Amino acid sequence: MAMQREVGVGDFVLLDKIDLDSFMKNLQLRFKNGKIYTYIGEVCVSVNPYKTMNIYGQDYVEQYKGRELFENPPHIFAIADSSHKVMKQQGRDTCIVISGESGSGKTEASKIIMKYIAAVTNQDSFRNPSGQKEIERVKNVLIQSNSILEAFGNAKTNRNDNSSRFGKYMDIHFDFKGDPIGGHINKYLLEKSRVIHQQPGERNFHCFYQIFCGASDDLLRKLKLTRNPDNFFYVKQGNAAKVDTINDRNDYREVTNSLNTLQFSKDDQDTLWRVVAAILHLGNVEFDVDEDKLILKKGQSVNNVAELLKVEKSDLEKALCERVIAARGDIMRKEHTETEASFGRDAFAKAVYDRLFAWIVGKINDAIAVDKNNYSAQYKSSLIGVLDIYGFEIFDNNSFEQFCINYCNEKLQQLFIELVLKQEQEEYNREGIAWTNIEYFNNQIICDLVEAPHKGIISIMDDACKMTAEKVTDELLLEAMDKYLKGHKHYMSRQTKPPEKTLRHKIDFRVTHYAGDVTYCIIGFLDKNKDTLFQDFKRLLYNSKDPNIKEMWPEGAQHISEITKRPPTAGTLFKNSMQALVQNLQNKEPHYVRCIKPNEIKSATAFDEERVRHQVSYLGLVENVRVRRAGFAYRQRYDRFLKRYKMISQFTWPNFRSGSDKDAVKVIMDEKRFADDVKYGRTKIFIRSPKTLFELENARNDLI
Ligand code: ADP
Ligand code: MG
Repeated sequence: MAMQREVGVGDFVLLDKIDLDSFMKNLQLRFKNGKIYTYIGEVCVSVNPYKTMNIYGQDYVEQYKGRELFENPPHIFAIADSSHKVMKQQGRDTCIVISGESGSGKTEASKIIMKYIAAVTNQDSFRNPSGQKEIERVKNVLIQSNSILEAFGNAKTNRNDNSSRFGKYMDIHFDFKGDPIGGHINKYLLEKSRVIHQQPGERNFHCFYQIFCGASDDLLRKLKLTRNPDNFFYVKQGNAAKVDTINDRNDYREVTNSLNTLQFSKDDQDTLWRVVAAILHLGNVEFDVDEDKLILKKGQSVNNVAELLKVEKSDLEKALCERVIAARGDIMRKEHTETEASFGRDAFAKAVYDRLFAWIVGKINDAIAVDKNNYSAQYKSSLIGVLDIYGFEIFDNNSFEQFCINYCNEKLQQLFIELVLKQEQEEYNREGIAWTNIEYFNNQIICDLVEAPHKGIISIMDDACKMTAEKVTDELLLEAMDKYLKGHKHYMSRQTKPPEKTLRHKIDFRVTHYAGDVTYCIIGFLDKNKDTLFQDFKRLLYNSKDPNIKEMWPEGAQHISEITKRPPTAGTLFKNSMQALVQNLQNKEPHYVRCIKPNEIKSATAFDEERVRHQVSYLGLVENVRVRRAGFAYRQRYDRFLKRYKMISQFTWPNFRSGSDKDAVKVIMDEKRFADDVKYGRTKIFIRSPKTLFELENARNDLI
């Protein structure tokens, strides 16, 4: 026992005293002792070790495979196994929700989970060698898809050298034996503004640097590039092209391997790198005004872009300098101002990249799709969903992207509250189990602030976007927000009462998120929400001679006069995608990994108490322990419970004659001396410790 004390307890539920201080002490003690995982019941708390841990090898896989949570020290493998077990044994869809702020280890955790699942499946393959080959292929493809997605969707930020700049939800489908037969990826809002701009110390997406370091001389020549990224505006603004922890050259090779494995054809790969290079050249296109006329500055850039995108140079020049507008049936050309032209160029670059990313995800999905010929409908498959989505973010400058990312985290916290805190307590009340309600902060009010119809920030933003472009500005948007939201407990600006003096007049607003205060700068919100791309660019790309590029821009087929409907805004699209995500997760049995970032300096030893304390608080972990401790590991309806366990008691087998199902269950539990560990609700039995269930299962197994 003393030994165990020195490394802390493996489940916070076992703490003598449950408060933030004891929680922190235990977490720190374990971290110092190299124990990065600790449970709260079935929730796994994970602290980023910032060093390679020798705990993911085959020996560990064997140790955790098919075991119950409480049989082994805490480990993320156990969560993956439990999720897989439920899915396999009960045929239920499960999901693993990984949350935590940027750099806390979510993406690593999702990769560890996938590798574990790959390692424990397809084990009886000798019986069916052809099936084995297909499943091995699927596993390989699922794992290799990561390096492609990271190359195009991750970037170095000041928080994390390999920060995911998109949200990812991946379904893995399994056959009735529990072996993976395919998958599907949903991506959420890629931070495309990074394509054109990076803060100091940050980079554009990895792929932009991989190409400079990894491509052959031959390919570089074709792409009109030299080895030096510093000649290109879109990749040099952060002044951080070289990163110690990143080997762009090796990564390029790995990405190429993965592209081959995932059956991206030679032409596909050709398109991919040509588009990346075209964006680089596009960033160097500059404008000038000559005798009141907008012109392109002399240089090769425009030629290069046209050649790489396989579009007519004259069409590209036109699209960059003017736009076609349809007004009351008439079609006219309107020349851009210099500002409009630069805006258009940047919007073009962002859109091209965003579509490229979507196209890549689509191709990956084709490669990992369940082969319907191989697995007919009679093999009802279940799935495990793994969610690795951007964590809560506070930067020096927070814009529309951070606003969306933080809203996403509010939604996930709300889901956690719903599933772990609220439903649990509601069930105890419903079942008449004695219970003192535990206070926790319910962040629904912040979700409403963002997403409510009419009065939510997204809705106010959309209304502003509907006005004519000349009339509305970001400042006016902020005014409208102030008008509707003043007095809201979680919203502040210079105009609210009392005015928040630290905020800049007409520029800033502040949201008190569940995870802390974030000041957003309103400048750019309208444009990013409208997400306008001049039609001319869409038609241009639709007319590309590269069939892949044409495929990415189907709406370019529309004639100018047909385009009337305003597309939904970026904010609304994101809101809808979040609501769909939450709904999807709600229908699955959830498993949670809560990631914690121990310090801001990527150190393997530093434990920044204040920062960790803050995360533990906002994640609601102490409340989670309280609910859990008073709670029960297992519950089941009496009839179902009886059906499964009636065989273990002479009083209930084959039939119980003297009362209800509830009475019968009581008889079993009394006979087996489990009475102290259970409570009897109206319709269900509640069992406190998983060990009791384990022993019940053993007793049953001894008989069959
Ligand atoms: P997030 O996805 O939450 O932003 P990442 O998963 O990208 O964070 O982790 C950031 C960095 O922390 C990784 O690049 C890696 O260096 C380190 N890291 C995270 N988890 C682990 C782990 N389990 N073992 C070793 N290093 C880790
Ligand atoms: Mg990540």
